[in-house]
Amino acid sequence: MKIICVGRNYSEHISELKNEVPTDPVLFMKPDSALMRSSDKFYIPEWTKDVHYEVELVVRIDRLGKNIEERFAHKYYSQISLGIDFTARDLQTELKSKGLPWEKAKAFDRSAVVGPWRDKEDYDLQNLNFSLLRNGDKVQEGNSSQMLNGIDALISYISQFFTLKIGDLIFTGTPKGVGRVEANDQLEGYLEDRKMFSVGVR
Ligand code: MG
Repeated sequence: MKIICVGRNYSEHISELKNEVPTDPVLFMKPDSALMRSSDKFYIPEWTKDVHYEVELVVRIDRLGKNIEERFAHKYYSQISLGIDFTARDLQTELKSKGLPWEKAKAFDRSAVVGPWRDKEDYDLQNLNFSLLRNGDKVQEGNSSQMLNGIDALISYISQFFTLKIGDLIFTGTPKGVGRVEANDQLEGYLEDRKMFSVGVR
């Protein structure tokens, strides 16, 4: 199983990190060891002082595919969830400035939180609201319509490079509002009005 993540897929988040709007989707991966169930606690690694939350819609692939046409992409997933792409921003900034790969900052153990799975049929994927609360305050709010590349376009693009296998996950990018987590924070994710997870930070 692999976790494919999309960077810079919401324009207001691109602005807040002062990145350039990409011409093609920005992709990176996390290994299966990065996966964390949302019922577990997240422990801030000792090698970073600046771990950020990034709430994201997550899609689970349930059919093998390569070079998938966008118009057929909807056949390759039936469930969605909400997750957190934890990011060691200090290390990522350092690696980016040196032109080095991001993996240590993005793909470390427990950096990919995934909530429970929901049938996509129960939601309007073109107009899907989601949010993240930190200690009860809403810090991130997004809608799938704000994505520069929608889910089906992402599946099509990704599958040109990487064969998608059953069980692979796609993190589809984060809206604006990312920020640092501190020990004892509680991070609650909502898909529409439904609470998807409550993750304790230690
Ligand atoms: Mg992200």
